[in-house]
Amino acid sequence: MTKALNGSPHAACAVGARRRPYEIVARAGRRGFEGNLAAREVRVGSVVVGGERPIVIAGPCAVESRRQTLEVARAVAAAGADMLRGGAYKPRTSPYDFQGLGRAGLEILAAAREATGLPIVTEVLDPRLVEEVASFADVLQIGARNMQNFPLLTEVGRSGKPVLLKRHWSATLAEWLCAAEYVAVEGNLDVILCERGIRTFTQGEYSRSTLDVNVVPAARRETFLPIVVDPSHAAGASEFVPATSAAAIGAGAHGLLIEVIGEDADPDAALCDGPQSIRPSALAEVVRRARLTAAQTATANAT
Ligand code: PEP
Ligand code: MN
Repeated sequence: MTKALNGSPHAACAVGARRRPYEIVARAGRRGFEGNLAAREVRVGSVVVGGERPIVIAGPCAVESRRQTLEVARAVAAAGADMLRGGAYKPRTSPYDFQGLGRAGLEILAAAREATGLPIVTEVLDPRLVEEVASFADVLQIGARNMQNFPLLTEVGRSGKPVLLKRHWSATLAEWLCAAEYVAVEGNLDVILCERGIRTFTQGEYSRSTLDVNVVPAARRETFLPIVVDPSHAAGASEFVPATSAAAIGAGAHGLLIEVIGEDADPDAALCDGPQSIRPSALAEVVRRARLTAAQTATANAT
């Protein structure tokens, strides 16, 4: 049995393994990244994820209609977002909830990209749909529930598209990085990690999940993959999103993924996650603050 429990999640995952459980995505041993905290940049069109400038991915939880998506897409572009998010295939806890528009939703996202120039981030739920979703998306999102769907990870690894890999709410850092390794082993190193809150005893009291801010510097220590934070699914309420976004950037996240509804939309009328979605005016302030914090951090590090 290999040594474990020496404080490194890398070692904790290595019990009984002949090889290291995640060696491609590990910082240790990777030329240019060992001994520093730099990230390997993931390029999506002209957007660079993993550099000093934090990137913001914003948009509705779900693509509900052409009108709703185009309105929010234009608003998030004006607020300073770098990419547009929106689910066409939705992983819903109940089978009776809105499951997304499917291919029609992907076509709406393509129209929103055309209208705004923003690259599209959208979830793929099923290995059989990777080809279809990849033909529309610029970044394939793997949702928290699918973090250990290994055939899906293999398939997105083969797609040649950048992957946004959400952390399951009960996954350890080592399990999350092993999931990233499934993508990397297929030759795809363009993986962006996304922390979205973990399940703790406070669930539902003042949050939907607990935003694990601590995992940001820990992940940066363990891997060169860039990491972004989704404060929306952790907060569960729009009022907490600005503060938790600032915390994430302060902890060293390379960006944010934020759910947004129309400026005048009724949160309770949204088909998915309306109450945790912020308005474009609030997003503009989140973006401004994130860029300011990152610039101040870069200056402080340089002096
Ligand atoms: C989402 O971002 O649309 C989503 C479903 O989030 P998660 O997978 O983190 O629950
Ligand atoms: Mn959502």
